[in-house]
Amino acid sequence: MVTIDPPRERQCERCGRVETWDDDTGTWVAGGANDESDRGNPHCVHVWDITGAYNPIGGSN
Ligand SMILES: [Zn+2]
Repeated sequence: MVTIDPPRERQCERCGRVETWDDDTGTWVAGGANDESDRGNPHCVHVWDITGAYNPIGGSN
């Protein structure tokens, strides 16, 4: 049995951009609690530091 527990929030390690998951649209939405200041650099190649143990690649499992 596989339990899917996707992250709800992620932050870029490079520019500090914060995105939160929107269930309604099924997409990441820029802007965290501080909104404008959390949008980071639009030209950054974001490296997401995802909260928790979520592994998008699949890892050892
Ligand atoms: Zn970034």
